[in-house]
Formats: sequence, C-alpha cells, structure tokens
Amino acid sequence: MKLTELFKQDRPMLSFEVFPPKTDSSWESVSQAVQKIAGLKPSYMSVTYGAGGGTSRYTVDIAKKIKREYGVNALAHLTCVSSDRQTVQDRLEDLRTAGIENILALRGDRPQDYVPGEYRYAGELIEDIKKAGDFCIGGACYPECHPESSCQKEDIVHLKQKVDAGCEFLTTQMFFDNALFYNFMYKIREAGITVPIVAGIMPVTNASQVKRICELSGSFLPRSFTEMVDHFGPDPKAMYAAGIAYATNQIVNLFANGINHVHVYSMNKPEVARDIQKNVDGILH
Ligand SMILES: Cc1cc2nc3c(=O)[nH]c(=O)nc-3n(C[C@H](O)[C@H](O)[C@H](O)COP(=O)(O)OP(=O)(O)OC[C@H]3O[C@@H](n4cnc5c(N)ncnc54)[C@H](O)[C@@H]3O)c2cc1C
Repeated sequence: MKLTELFKQDRPMLSFEVFPPKTDSSWESVSQAVQKIAGLKPSYMSVTYGAGGGTSRYTVDIAKKIKREYGVNALAHLTCVSSDRQTVQDRLEDLRTAGIENILALRGDRPQDYVPGEYRYAGELIEDIKKAGDFCIGGACYPECHPESSCQKEDIVHLKQKVDAGCEFLTTQMFFDNALFYNFMYKIREAGITVPIVAGIMPVTNASQVKRICELSGSFLPRSFTEMVDHFGPDPKAMYAAGIAYATNQIVNLFANGINHVHVYSMNKPEVARDIQKNVDGILH
C-alpha cells in the first residue's frame, strides 16, 4: 500500500525503523530483529540506506522481506549524495522488481572528503524518482533546522521546494521537546506545506546513546531529559525503563494533539518497539 493511502486513515498509528546489516555475517541477527518487529504489525516499517552505498544493497532485500514475508507495508530509504544517476536508476529498478512502492528520498550526509557529484540535494533525487514511475515519495524534515541551513526560514523554503518537486509526506528528525515540533508544524503549514507529517521519536534507553545523538542530530535536550539521563544513566535497567517512559510520554502527547503518525527510531531493537507499542496499545485501533 502507498503510505499516502495509509495516512488518509485519520487514526493514531505507529511505525518502526530498522537498519540493514553492515556485513553478510550480521544478516541473520538483523533478520531476526526485523521479524520480531514486523510481528507487532506496525502501520509500516522503514529501512535505512547507507549514504556511502556500502550496505545499500541490503535495504531492498530487507524491505522486500518486510512486505512479502511479513505482510507489513515497507518504506525503503534511498540516498543520493554519493550516487550517480545510473546507480539511482538501477536501485529504482530493484525496488520496482521487489514490489516496493514507498521511498524515503534523502540526500545523505556529505562525507568529509565531499566533492559535488551528480546530486547535490534531495530535491534532485525526488525529481528523478518522480520521473521514473509510480512511487510514493517521502522526504526528511528538521523541526530544529538542518545543521547546514543558516536559519529555519531558509530551511523551510528548501523544504517547500522539495515538496513541490513531488515529495508526498515528510518524516521528522528526532526531537525530545514536543513544543519545538508544534512550533515547526505551525511554521511549515503557514509556508504552504500541507503534506502529512510523521513525527520521528527516538527512545533513548542507554546513557551512551546520548553523546552520539547530539553529534548526529544536534537535537535540543530539555532539562527533564538530561535529569533523567543524569539520574538513571548509571543503572542500565532503570535507564531503559525511564527512556521508554520518556518516549511514551512524547508519543501520547503527540496523539493527544492530533498528530496521528509517529515513527519510532527502534534501531533493530525489538524489545524497544514492543514496549513502546504495549504502552500505547489502547490508543491504537
Ligand atoms: C527521517 C530521516 C531519515 C533518514 N534516513 C537516512 C538514511 O537512511 N541514510 C542516510 O545516510 N541518512 C539518513 N538521514 C540523514 C540525512 O541524509 C541527513 O540529515 C542529510 O544531511 C540531509 O538529508 P536531506 O534529505 O534532508 O537533504 P536536503 O533536503 O537536500 O537538505 C540538506 C540541506 O540542504 C539544504 N537545501 C535543500 N535543497 C536546497 C537547494 N535547492 N539549494 C540550497 N540548499 C538546499 C536544506 O535546507 C538543508 O540544509 C535521515 C534523516 C531523517 C530526518
């Protein structure tokens, strides 16, 4: 099913993210995690794509498994910063053959030794996917502004261009303060961006994740979050429970404010997906 059809259903729903194996040897463990997460019957599952291209071939394989073996809607990520147009065309053909209808079209992070190639921005990839056929295309958005943009206003102008190029829904970067997300929603709707927005939530279940999250996303960490990590971080069991509770509170608040589509960055952790889903099960129907 195309996700745009799914989003027409006006009800709270959860989706989960997985990442493909980095090597052949980790295929089995990733497959098992994917199977367990798919068993929760989320509204869809997304599969990330390595911007450097190294593990990218597994993205299609995992997405195909999700759809064909487990009967769950699949969303395959595709990045372009390190690709040429031919590679993108080949990947689109793979996705088409695998019966994958939904693509999250991304630029990818520029490598340190970045030399501009055939693609500079996600918008250019979106144009090519649009020309290539009948895919449902999503893109990324940043409630706290993409780190390369000089200000949020500029970032939203580029976001609108991306939507005008054919992006039919947007998934947000993780955020830990819902107020920042609501503020962003107001600004993008005012800028004329009307496509469905999926809120991305990252359950932080161990203290060592925090440094990496800050480096990757630059997300603002509210006091309630840093207090939680300071207090519970040294005790892994307590930190796990607190992290699940924090993410659950964010999700309940989003649903309560009419944001029906929440994507959980479950990072191949079936227990995280399970525990979040259990906590909001009575709300999902
Ligand atoms: C939901 C989500 C999923 C992700 N999945 C993956 C993944 O699977 N694999 C992976 O490698 N990375 C992934 N990323 C990370 C993403 O690739 C990086 O954040 C990357 O730096 C930007 O990608 P983008 O598609 O948002 O780029 P773009 O939309 O191209 O934006 C990047 C920057 O360029 C600016 N810009 C855009 N268009 C123009 C223009 N025409 N002129 C001038 N400036 C412009 C934007 O304002 C922004 O500052 C994901 C991010 C999110 C939020």
